[in-house]
Amino acid sequence: MRIPIIAGNWKMHNTVEEALQLVNELKKEVDKTDVRVVICCPFTVLGEVKKAIVDSNIKLGAQNIHWEDSGAYTGEISAAMLKDHGVDYVIIGHSERRQYFNETDETVNRKVIKALEKDLIPILCVGETLEERETDKTYEVVKGQILKALENVDEEEVKKIVVAYEPVWAIGTGKTASPEDANAVIAYIRQVIKEKYGEEISEIVPIQYGGSVKAANATEIMNQEDIDGALVGGASLKAEEFLGIVNF
Ligand code: PEP
Repeated sequence: MRIPIIAGNWKMHNTVEEALQLVNELKKEVDKTDVRVVICCPFTVLGEVKKAIVDSNIKLGAQNIHWEDSGAYTGEISAAMLKDHGVDYVIIGHSERRQYFNETDETVNRKVIKALEKDLIPILCVGETLEERETDKTYEVVKGQILKALENVDEEEVKKIVVAYEPVWAIGTGKTASPEDANAVIAYIRQVIKEKYGEEISEIVPIQYGGSVKAANATEIMNQEDIDGALVGGASLKAEEFLGIVNF
């Protein structure tokens, strides 16, 4: 049985004061759930948020990582720096990174490998654009993204990752894929993992849905057979809304 995992992606929101207020509101309630809850914060608040959640069920995540251990990469953050702040999870290949920061399947792959090497759990994001969906390329696109991201990742390592299926057209737009549609793509991603690693491993990897998830649609989405959780952007910035999803 895969345990559902609900991850909040705060994106470029929350100063230290705002982050602590939100996390303190979440903490008490999250401790009552069996769902895995992760908060993926901006780098600048990781340290303070870690201190605030140390005695709670909430796990800490970051939103990006560099693929090298160190070096002349101005503005970048390494795995060791994330570990320093008690980070357990890291979002890799979010569509906003692919779209605005030229992240490619190749750099996504290098980041996944580095995260795994340093004991960080990648939340690997894949998903098609609207144009790709409208030209019936969804399955081909997600298969290509998954296979490239997992190049040179072995059976033992792949068991540790989390995949997030996030159709680009559904992120921050208020549009969600229909639960059945999202489930079908997620079942297909599991099939792709099965073809590469075998059935047992494909049944272990949690696959989330992301794209305008909110308290009002969480139950319907989470009740789908193949959907193991949600990656939540906008709705993770309000305690009540995020808790509504956690308690779907
Ligand atoms: C996201 O940032 O991964 C996301 C799914 O955003 P939103 O929930 O706002 O669509």
